[in-house]
Amino acid sequence: MHEMSLAENVMQIIEESARTQNFQRVRIVVLEIGKLAAVEPDAMRFCFDAVTRGTLAQGAQLQIIESPGTGACLACGAEVEMQEQYGLCSSCGSPRLKITAGNQMRVKDLAVE
Ligand SMILES: [Zn+2]
Repeated sequence: MHEMSLAENVMQIIEESARTQNFQRVRIVVLEIGKLAAVEPDAMRFCFDAVTRGTLAQGAQLQIIESPGTGACLACGAEVEMQEQYGLCSSCGSPRLKITAGNQMRVKDLAVE
């Protein structure tokens, strides 16, 4: 389950922010997860709860925003919306799509005190 290592990355980002911005407690974490990032929101919530236990983010609310996936077709050059990692070009049907957005996850916002 790669969500566990992603959740650990999120925790590292939170701890770094806590050091630089000097906060003691995290109340809300807003995660932006690309549609093509292959991250299961439910698994992410479960792992987030596990890795934040005993930390300054314990009990924090996790909000997940899904960002759309887009790709560029290497065959016809079209810019297409992608629903899954391995899709077909909606304009020419080619499977040669290069993902241009939506395959990443990032911490978009933190509500702290
Ligand atoms: Zn195409």
